[in-house]
Amino acid sequence: MTTKKFYLLLLNIFCSGFLFSQVQFSTDFESASIGSVKLLDSVWIKSTPADSMLTLSYEISSRFDPLNPVDTSLSPSARWYLFRITGVKGKQLFINIKNSEAIRPFYSYDNTTFQRFESVENINKGQINKIFTHDTVYICHFIPYTCSHLDKKYKEWSGSNYVKTEVIGQSQQGRDIRMMTLTDWSADDTNKKRVWIHGRVHPSEHPSSWHLEFLIDKLLDGSTHSRALLANTIFYIVPFTNPDGVYGGLSRSASSGVNIEINWDRPDSLTMPEVKALRGKIESLTKDRPFDLLLNMHSQISGSITYWIHTAESTSGLMYRKQMLLSALTINDNPFFAPADLSFSGVAPRYVEGWIWDRSGNNTVAITFETPYTYYKNDKNGDWVSLDNLKSLAGNSLSAISDYLEISSEARILADVKVSRPSEWKKAVDDSLVYFGNECLITDKIGQKVSAKVKLPKAGTYKVYTWVAGAVGNRSDNMINRWKELGSVTVSKKRTYKWRGISDQLNGVADKLLFLK
Ligand SMILES: [Zn+2]
Repeated sequence: MTTKKFYLLLLNIFCSGFLFSQVQFSTDFESASIGSVKLLDSVWIKSTPADSMLTLSYEISSRFDPLNPVDTSLSPSARWYLFRITGVKGKQLFINIKNSEAIRPFYSYDNTTFQRFESVENINKGQINKIFTHDTVYICHFIPYTCSHLDKKYKEWSGSNYVKTEVIGQSQQGRDIRMMTLTDWSADDTNKKRVWIHGRVHPSEHPSSWHLEFLIDKLLDGSTHSRALLANTIFYIVPFTNPDGVYGGLSRSASSGVNIEINWDRPDSLTMPEVKALRGKIESLTKDRPFDLLLNMHSQISGSITYWIHTAESTSGLMYRKQMLLSALTINDNPFFAPADLSFSGVAPRYVEGWIWDRSGNNTVAITFETPYTYYKNDKNGDWVSLDNLKSLAGNSLSAISDYLEISSEARILADVKVSRPSEWKKAVDDSLVYFGNECLITDKIGQKVSAKVKLPKAGTYKVYTWVAGAVGNRSDNMINRWKELGSVTVSKKRTYKWRGISDQLNGVADKLLFLK
């Protein structure tokens, strides 16, 4: 070896050690989490004859939740990761993520604006491969929805005349569990529908919080539809059921290690304070009258949206039909959700849904709504989950809630269909079709006259839709269990309009009509 070569080797060793020592992993910030970091390899590669690049290979293990002291057979989850790496600019990093999924996760150079790794940067399962252009990078499973972000939004929402806030209890670590009540306080409460929504039982499920935030934003956007919904409904919303878990960057447990999603049927001594807070509030709110709807907002690793529908066998035919109606209304005109994405299970009292079923029976549809972290409709070549499409999904969810509660407003005018010769029609039996209301009339005779009286609030043209009530078990036919456009009507002034049609137009099913301006 020549003297020159020897000095070059020394320089390389020095530089390699120097640059390597600059790469540091940290989690000293909100919602951050990592288990362990292991440097597997570091190699200088010649990118051009004059330039070398340091290539570093790491194995990251995401951090497990604390051991569950109540359900001791459950293995702790390690889904969530959010960490900062400094000193990475211009270096090629191979990062293997163990214990969790790395399916095009996200990165950010400022912990505020996040983007997904491209497919070519995540070719091998669990492995990220990228040359970063800034010195500091944040890597996470999904765009973080943190306590401080909620604080900011909560302050904004609290400024609305429609919103009242309260603290319904404290978490294990003493954080407030906050609830917002949203309604038009000037409207009489007697006949208002009542909807309970809670989120972030599982702290890693960040997409669900974005979905819920956009839903609340939409409710408070001052539009005709939102105002009508608030005039006719009271929404009780707990955005974070598990604030400790969110703050501490946990995956599926509270700070105690308990998965509070399945803690609803435990004796008092084993019931976590977060569940006690929710249970106490729900008990006091439903003392005289049950909720109409309870939504439990989650996110799932499967590449699809889903509702967890409770089977008719474990509940009732009526409950099954109601859940299928809500699902069908959410799937209606929704590019991100298909009937094949629905999930089914028996109702069980360890979940809030089972606890509500035992308490309120057929009166309350209590259901888990899951958004994915990755893509929709199990199609990785389709749309990947983004804040934009979660926002559009929230709009869809709100229309579904409003139609499900049968709230007719100037923005979405609902009307019942009347038949002229009832003897030619018969009642749909055994909740076999997905229809609104208490009964549904069907006929196989063509040309049967039908009509509907509807108050059209303004002059103009309205599109008319009929609800195509199809089989309750339908998972494949996209032409049934949806609003189907029949045509349009034009009125010259505000008035009660009598719509006339025949049974053929309605596929032989007399249910609801929808008029949209
Ligand atoms: Zn969950």
